[in-house]
Amino acid sequence: MSFRFLYQRVPVKERICSYYLCQKPILRNIAQTPDGRLWHYGCLNTAKDEQHKCLECFGTFDGTEAVLSEHEQGQGDTFSMEMKLSCPYCGAEVSKHKQFLEEENLAIL
Ligand SMILES: [Zn+2]
Ligand SMILES: [Zn+2]
Repeated sequence: MSFRFLYQRVPVKERICSYYLCQKPILRNIAQTPDGRLWHYGCLNTAKDEQHKCLECFGTFDGTEAVLSEHEQGQGDTFSMEMKLSCPYCGAEVSKHKQFLEEENLAIL
């Protein structure tokens, strides 16, 4: 069982779901893509079902291929880091339907 092997090898704090809308520790239903990233099984399926289209290079990709980049938001004492979804081909920021996806994500968890 490769899943049990993973549980023993990877500390809990490093078992963070790769899905950009989740980013939570994975306690069970762990899945791994060939590139080595870890996912909740449900999050991986959700990510695979996503379809994004880049408005810069017109490339299409799903939620497992999207690239996350950190951006600083705000000014002075009230700044925070925000994760933004970017095109894996050209790096352009991609708009997402966050509200809808979060509701869908909750239903799975
Ligand atoms: Zn997840
Ligand atoms: Zn692009």
